Amino acid sequence: MLDQLEAQAPDALLALIKMHAEDPREDKIDLGVGVYRTNDGATPVFRSIKAAEQRLVDTQDSKSYLGPEGDTGFVDALKPYIFGKDASMGGRLEGMQTPGGTGAVRLAVALAKAAGVKRVHLGVPSWPNHAQILQDVGVVTCTFHHAKADGTADIDALIETIEAAEPTDAVLLHGCCHNPTGVDYTDEQWEQIAEAFAAKGILPILDVAYHGLGRGLEEDVAGVRKVLAKVPEALVAYSCDKNFGLYRDRVGAFYMIAKQPSDLPAITSNANALARANWSMPPDHGGAAVRTVLRDGDLTKQWLDELDEMRARMRRVRARLAAADNEAPGLNLAALGEQNGLFAMLPLTKDQIASLREDHAIYMAGSGRINVAGLHAGNTDKFIAALADVIEG
Ligand code: PMP
Repeated sequence: MLDQLEAQAPDALLALIKMHAEDPREDKIDLGVGVYRTNDGATPVFRSIKAAEQRLVDTQDSKSYLGPEGDTGFVDALKPYIFGKDASMGGRLEGMQTPGGTGAVRLAVALAKAAGVKRVHLGVPSWPNHAQILQDVGVVTCTFHHAKADGTADIDALIETIEAAEPTDAVLLHGCCHNPTGVDYTDEQWEQIAEAFAAKGILPILDVAYHGLGRGLEEDVAGVRKVLAKVPEALVAYSCDKNFGLYRDRVGAFYMIAKQPSDLPAITSNANALARANWSMPPDHGGAAVRTVLRDGDLTKQWLDELDEMRARMRRVRARLAAADNEAPGLNLAALGEQNGLFAMLPLTKDQIASLREDHAIYMAGSGRINVAGLHAGNTDKFIAALADVIEG
């Protein structure tokens, strides 16, 4: 039986990590894997999380099972950051903890399917796992262009998609810090998106995986809130793995916004059943650490400071790249200054990407995606010079 399986393509980014690790050149640069890095290239545990973890060690008195909804204190503590001051949304909002943002996206798609959604529209390029999840859950993936060549969002493509959608369609959008392009919708465009969703009445699935890494905690969810203010129902997938630095602890949350409060028990019972069949219940530790941070004023302040520091660093790198627009003509580095989050796409050929790796020890995904957090004051000039070199060929 098992010998019937055909080998799957290896994960290209994991292969890149291995190549980078084996490269002996001391000035090598890793722009591949999607984690935040400090000026020294480290991805440290947040100080606020360390302190919260210490408190958990000292005070947690049981690791007995919770339910499929996980740590409800964690789920509730996040709500005001995502949904704003009136985080109850008139009793139409309920959430649950998930294994990372990935678990939340999977649950959103599976719940949408259970409710009758047949096709999900996805702006491309997107995080590769979006398409894999849609396929695995068993809905049809329809695609539209996310970004234009000038480095801004293709709003017309999205609006046309929404307007032409069938009632059993859903649309999956990145809330902020689009992966892999870094291209987010503007506030005015989010207004338009909200209007289009409201007019059509189809289900939005909003994936918020980099909250606070773009413009600010409030700014990064302003678009999501505009949509939620206009539509009758929606699903939100949320990750704490970047903005609390918890990656491998797998910390996420899934929120359901119902047409009316009386719809919520049936919706959440379906989500619970799906969670039980998928993973039974989410891992506890990371969510408990986030709850501990958010329930303590001092730790919350420390977390906000740490997030500010990360965001400011990425904005500095983006500004430096944008200022080098003339040094690498044709790459439109200027647009990177306006874009958000960890990622940007450079219109490089396969040969240019290979030359960056072989001749300059610079590692990036084959798609041309770079992790801007892999750059810092000590290596950005080298990166820009290498770009200029490979462009000249
Ligand atoms: N959505 C997007 C757009 C992502 O880029 C990612 C991961 N990088 C996720 C969801 C899932 O994040 P997590 O690691 O929390 O599963």
